[in-house]
Amino acid sequence: MAQTYKVEKGGALSWPRNCVVCGSSEVVAEKAYGSSVDNVALPYGVMLSISEYTLSFPYPLCPAHKRFWLATRIALYSLVLVIAFLLAFLFETLPDHTSVLWVVAAAVALVFYVLAVTLPPVRVYRIRDDYYMLRIRSDGYARDFERANPGKIRNRSV
Ligand SMILES: [Zn+2]
Repeated sequence: MAQTYKVEKGGALSWPRNCVVCGSSEVVAEKAYGSSVDNVALPYGVMLSISEYTLSFPYPLCPAHKRFWLATRIALYSLVLVIAFLLAFLFETLPDHTSVLWVVAAAVALVFYVLAVTLPPVRVYRIRDDYYMLRIRSDGYARDFERANPGKIRNRSV
């Protein structure tokens, strides 16, 4: 399970000093990073405006889980790159680019990419002018996080 929060921009959040994953009190800082695009207007095929938002802040993980998520992220992104490289390599030798092989390989690469983006213990997304969304995968940590930030966050989990 996971908890989702709507966070007003401006105030700093308090992160209880425990590993978000296992609760260990020996922690180092890990970085949550998110970016999103808003206001993409395409009337009559003309791009009018794009606003891009990025946001990053530290949150606590124990050294073991920091290493684990770094390795997981590298492995997933590497798999995406390997598949992209293989497809590029096969571009000339297998000219039928609509074959099942291409579709399956692209779908697998997409799954690895989505996992790399969504699996981390803390995730930032839907960043806007005045708020952003925050997802904490551990319910136990999320409870402590809610207690540490009264009035600053709104739980959006159903
Ligand atoms: Zn941990």
